[in-house]
Amino acid sequence: MSVRALPYSRQDIDDDDIAAVTAVLRSDFLTQGQQLPAFEAEFAAVHQVPHALAVGNATQALHIACLALGVGPGSRVWTCTNSFLASANCARYCGADVDFVDIDPATRQISLPALAAKLEAAQATGTLPQVVIPIDFAGLPCDWPALRALADRHGFKLLQDGSHATGATLHGQPMASDWADISVFSFHAVKVVTTAEGGMVCTRDAALARTMDRLRSHGMVRDPAQMRAEPDGPWSYEQQTLGYNYRMTELQAALGRSQLRRLPGMQARREALATRYDQILADLPLRLPPRRDGAQSAWHLYAIELDDATRRKAVFEGLRAQGIGVQVHYIPIHTQPYYRALGFQPGDFPAAENYYASTISLPLFPAMSDADQDRVAAALRELLKD
Ligand SMILES: *Cc1c(COP(=O)(O)O)cnc(C)c1O
Repeated sequence: MSVRALPYSRQDIDDDDIAAVTAVLRSDFLTQGQQLPAFEAEFAAVHQVPHALAVGNATQALHIACLALGVGPGSRVWTCTNSFLASANCARYCGADVDFVDIDPATRQISLPALAAKLEAAQATGTLPQVVIPIDFAGLPCDWPALRALADRHGFKLLQDGSHATGATLHGQPMASDWADISVFSFHAVKVVTTAEGGMVCTRDAALARTMDRLRSHGMVRDPAQMRAEPDGPWSYEQQTLGYNYRMTELQAALGRSQLRRLPGMQARREALATRYDQILADLPLRLPPRRDGAQSAWHLYAIELDDATRRKAVFEGLRAQGIGVQVHYIPIHTQPYYRALGFQPGDFPAAENYYASTISLPLFPAMSDADQDRVAAALRELLKD
C-alpha cells in the first residue's frame, strides 16, 4: 500500500504566482526594480502601516530592527523561550544580553504576569530591558494592548516577531498597524505568505524606517538631501553607517505581491480547516489550540497538546510512519546548547518546557482537503485509543 505523504505545511503556489515570477525573469530587473517598492506599498496598505521594508528573510528583519532600536553590546533584550531561534539570536548578533520570559500555558505566548513581575524586579535593580520581543505564536495575536501598556510604563521598545501572523487581526486591526514599535513578518516557504525566503519590517516611525532602509543596503544613501557632503555628481553615494546586503530580489517581491492578493482566500481556508480540526478532535485526550476574543489568527500552525505527555514521542512517530508530516514547535530556546553555555538551564522556564513536552503540530495548509484532515484525525484517534 502506498499512502500519499502529507506535509505539515506546504506553500500554496498557483498559476498567477508563477506568471508573476516568470514575468520578472523576462523583464529588465531581477533586483532593485519596481516590484520591490510595489510589494512594500501593498503590504503596508494591507497592514495599515506607513513604512514596510522588505528584506531577505525575517532573521535579517529582526537583526536590523534590533540595530535600529539601539540594541548593542551590553543591551538587555528579552524574548519568549517558546519560539524559533531567530527571536533570540537577533539580539545576540548585536552583542546584547538575552533573557527569556516563560509562556502563559493557556496562550503559549509570553506570559503577561511573568513579564510584569520580571519588569518590576528589573525596575528595582535598574536592569530593565531596552527591547522585548513577543511572538504571535502559531499566528494568534498576542495581547498587544496589554504589552503596549507595559512598554509605556517601563520604557522599553516592543519588537513584534509576527513571523507567524501575516494577515492576523486583533480587534479588527491588522498586525503592525498599532502597538509594537517595529513588526517583523516572515515569508519562508512554510509561512502563511511566501516569497521562498523573505521578510518584512514595518514601523510607524519614519526615523526607524530610514535607519533600517540604510542597514539593509550597506549603510548607504543615494538621496543628495541625506548626504553629509556635497555630492560629486549624479553617481554619488555615501556610506554613513555599517550596513548589510539584506535586500529582497524582484522575483521574491513579485511572488509576494501575488501571494498577498491571494491571502484572504488562503486565510479563509486555514480558518475553516482549524475550525474543522477543533470539531473532529474535540473528544480526544488532548488540548486544542487557543483562540482569543477579538482576534483572528493567521493559523500558521495547528498545535495540539496531548493530555499524556509520555505518549508524545510514540504518537509523533506513529503519525510520521503513516506519512503524516507532523512537527514540534518549539524546543524552548533556553535549553539549546548555545544558550545553556550562556547560563540558562532546563527548569528555568517550566511552563514552556511542559508545553514543549506534550505538543505536536498537525498538518495545516490551504490545499489540504477535508479527507486529508479526516486521515490525520483517524490516525490520531487510533494512536491515542485505550
Ligand atoms: C520563521 C521564523 C523566523 C525566521 O524567519 P526566516 O524568514 O526563516 O528568517 C523568526 N521567528 C519565528 C517565530 C519564526 O517562526
